[in-house]
Amino acid sequence: MSRRNSRAQRRRIAKQQSKSFSKTRIVIAGGLIAVVLAGGALATRSYDSNEISEPDAIHSTVESENLIDKVRAGDLDSQDYIDLMVQRSPLLKNTIEEGIIAGVLYDPSIPELTNKLRGVLTGKVSEGILENLIATQMTAYPIVDGKIVAVSITPTHSLAYGIEIPSYIILPNDFLHTENPATDDEVISVLEHERRHSIDYFKPIVYPNGVTLIPEDFSSGRVSIPFNDALDETRAYYEQLEGNLRTVLVFESKNIGSDHLGNNARQYINSIKNLQLNTKTPKENEIKDAQMDEISGIVPLNLTGDVMTFRYTLYGRDNLIKISPGNN
Ligand SMILES: [Zn+2]
Repeated sequence: MSRRNSRAQRRRIAKQQSKSFSKTRIVIAGGLIAVVLAGGALATRSYDSNEISEPDAIHSTVESENLIDKVRAGDLDSQDYIDLMVQRSPLLKNTIEEGIIAGVLYDPSIPELTNKLRGVLTGKVSEGILENLIATQMTAYPIVDGKIVAVSITPTHSLAYGIEIPSYIILPNDFLHTENPATDDEVISVLEHERRHSIDYFKPIVYPNGVTLIPEDFSSGRVSIPFNDALDETRAYYEQLEGNLRTVLVFESKNIGSDHLGNNARQYINSIKNLQLNTKTPKENEIKDAQMDEISGIVPLNLTGDVMTFRYTLYGRDNLIKISPGNN
């Protein structure tokens, strides 16, 4: 559920900051981006269909009581609600306790966010580039009528990448008032997607086979910005989908709706496609291969008509799952 800077904006930033890149992550509120998938196989490996039992069916309808409804009715403060959702997620709680996420802010004002940025950057980057870095970051957010209208984490910039700078997750004013996310579990799902970005941004990525993604890979040109964007989203959508499938299949919860799940699954496929399309250099190839191994728990097999089929080997299970793309 994420979109980066527009290409033009990215180019502009790249021009201003030679030998640096912008890793700003932007999610349009509610993630209502329709991604049209071309038909055809996306499988990276094939399976003998005989070894697969009947696909899991998902008939997820939202039934549970949700605190988000109280926010929508005006009976619960948005920031209080977000704080409660953070407490419900052990993953988010731990990452905040570890100091990797500095906070989750609902509809911060621009001066407030500027100050927060200054807070996490001070002492981590030189005085000479501090204000410039803050200004560059602030211009990366879509701002309408003086309000930030994106879900994003911050700060994200090559000059601050991988040097243990904590992120803020920023939620725009209408985040809790769209069709997706519609439930408490869906809100947590979005926050956990952003959590993965925060972790990946905090320290260099290290794969089990020893392949790493380090800041110098960007300045040397071994890794491009579009590749890194696709890599980050692949990792975040995978983790989000793993969490959502666990909710649906293991906990058998009805609190992840088909629109949310479908959107997540679609974006996951899309991010893998982008990763493959943007893999060009030898280092990118090494990272891509290590990444595909890491996400082998959920493999897109094919897209027939409107249905996405995945093979998942997770939670001690090995099965196919069919997911419809949903409407949002
Ligand atoms: Zn993202």
